Amino acid sequence: MAVILDGREYSNIALDQVAEKVQALKKNGITPGLAVILVGDDPASQTYVRSKGKACDRVGIYSRTLILASDTTQAQLEKQIADLNRDDRIDGILLQLPLPAHLDEQHALSCIAPEKDVDGFHALNAGRLMLSLDGVLPCTPKGIIFMLKQAEIPIEGEHAVVVGRSNIVGKPAALLLLQENATVTICHSRTQDLKALTRQADILVAAVGKPKLITEDMIKPGAAVIDVGINRANGRLVGDVDFENVSKVAGYISPVPGGVGLMTVAMLMDNVVGLASRNRA
Ligand code: NAD
Repeated sequence: MAVILDGREYSNIALDQVAEKVQALKKNGITPGLAVILVGDDPASQTYVRSKGKACDRVGIYSRTLILASDTTQAQLEKQIADLNRDDRIDGILLQLPLPAHLDEQHALSCIAPEKDVDGFHALNAGRLMLSLDGVLPCTPKGIIFMLKQAEIPIEGEHAVVVGRSNIVGKPAALLLLQENATVTICHSRTQDLKALTRQADILVAAVGKPKLITEDMIKPGAAVIDVGINRANGRLVGDVDFENVSKVAGYISPVPGGVGLMTVAMLMDNVVGLASRNRA
């Protein structure tokens, strides 16, 4: 049976480290601040925003949530972002995605000042990651690496297969694994014979959004399986991995819930503190 990669345990370690950094900044008169913008009333997004607020409270970060109506215009949204760019109490600005369909996500993200881009989604920070330069790292991929390192799972020289190529998870996860000297394969919706590739993975990251896409016959025995997916099936949260059967073959597996999602929030807190240290300390 696979070892369970316990997101609660690892995120607690990360959050304790962040809380210490916050205390150090406060001694110098700096309270790191996060602003979260939520447009509309998507229940899943509301849940995520609440959990981010709670994490801020836990580590001592000042937080502010702006809730905008679902018919907010692009200009109104970008005016709010511009105001936060100028707000001295705010070190990080998070635009909760997805936005309602009438809004241009990429354009709105490009309005966040790169030095307050706490998610690392601005083109400048994405470019820095591409070039292996110092910058803000997207929270979910950063959380995956933190989890692998805490569990002492080797990355260097291993074959990592990332299923999914989104700008927020798949691509940056692949780049971070590459930075850690893994040999990386990226799979996506047009990949032929997915199973032949996933079966070669020492580390398999599933970031697709399809319940039970990854089944036990797709796993190399002993592999580390990181399930990023968050899906609602029959009223409960499940990942992309058939947890029950895959855990009989894998060496390590992250559960959903209780896995990568918690790491994402912890890394968000770390990014806020990182921005406050870089820009104010
Ligand atoms: P996305 O929809 O932007 O991307 C999905 C990717 O999956 C695409 O690149 C697509 O090519 C690929 N894909 C689709 N069908 C496939 C198939 N049959 N075989 C192989 N690849 C296929 O999604 P995203 O934003 O990257 O999110 C992926 C999942 O991760 C979602 O369930 C999302 O809710 C979840 N998520 C979790 C966290 C977290 O903190 N745990 C954070 C972000 C996203």
